Amino acid sequence: MAKIIDGKAIAAKIRAEISAEAARLKEKGIVPGLAVVLVGEDPASKVYVSMKEKACADVGIFSDEYKLPAETGEAELLALIEKLNADPKIHGILVQLPLPKQINTERVLEAISPDKDADGFHPYNVGRLVIGKPLFQPCTPYGVMVMLKEAGVELSGKEVVVVGRSNIVGKPVAFMCLQQNATVTLCHSKTRDLAGKVAQADVVIAAVGVPEMIKGSWIKEGAVVIDVGVNRVGEKKLVGDVEYAAASERASAITPVPGGVGPMTITMLLQNTLESAKRGM
Ligand code: NAP
Repeated sequence: MAKIIDGKAIAAKIRAEISAEAARLKEKGIVPGLAVVLVGEDPASKVYVSMKEKACADVGIFSDEYKLPAETGEAELLALIEKLNADPKIHGILVQLPLPKQINTERVLEAISPDKDADGFHPYNVGRLVIGKPLFQPCTPYGVMVMLKEAGVELSGKEVVVVGRSNIVGKPVAFMCLQQNATVTLCHSKTRDLAGKVAQADVVIAAVGVPEMIKGSWIKEGAVVIDVGVNRVGEKKLVGDVEYAAASERASAITPVPGGVGPMTITMLLQNTLESAKRGM
């Protein structure tokens, strides 16, 4: 049976390190600050924003929340971002997505100063990642890389298969693995013989959003499986993109859902804010 890569435990360890570092910074008069901007009343976004604020408070990061009504115009939001870009107390700015229809998301993300882009979505930061000189790294793929490191998985020379090519998970994690000298195959909905591709992988990273679509029987004996997918099945059950039970019988290590990649995402947001505050010293 595969070893379980415990995201909760890794996240707790990293948060303790962030907390200790934030305390050291405080002695020098620096408090890392994150601005969280929420436009509208989307219930899931409200939950995410409150989780992010609580996580900040727990590690000694100052967070400032801006809750704007759903009918907020783009110009008003851009003006707020400009103000936050200039605010020395703020080291990271996060605009919770999705934004209401009247607002152009790309324009908003590009208005955030690349030096405060805590989510790592600004094209400048995406470009830095691609050329192997990352500044802010997007939180979920950054969390995946930390999990692999903590689990002692060496990527150099390995075959990594990433399933899913979104801008927030699949593409950035593929470049991060490439940077660690893996040979990376990036698969998507038009990929032919996905099962055959996955079967070649020493490390499989699934970020698809389709419940258990990667079958356990595809996994190479001894491979490492990182499942980013979070899919609600029925009323309460959450499952990943990988058929967990069957994959566990073949993999050497695997992340569960829930309790795998999920807890890492907010942790890396805290890490990004901390690193930004240190860069500004
Ligand atoms: P997304 O933007 O919907 O992208 C899904 C990707 O999967 C696309 O590239 C798509 O290909 C590919 N795909 C869809 N069906 C496929 C198939 N049958 N075979 C192969 N590839 C297929 O999703 P995302 O935002 O990256 O999220 C992926 C999953 O991760 C979701 O379950 C999401 O909830 C989860 N997630 C979790 C966290 C976390 O914190 N744990 C964070 C972010 C996302 P095309 O490009 O060809 O359409």
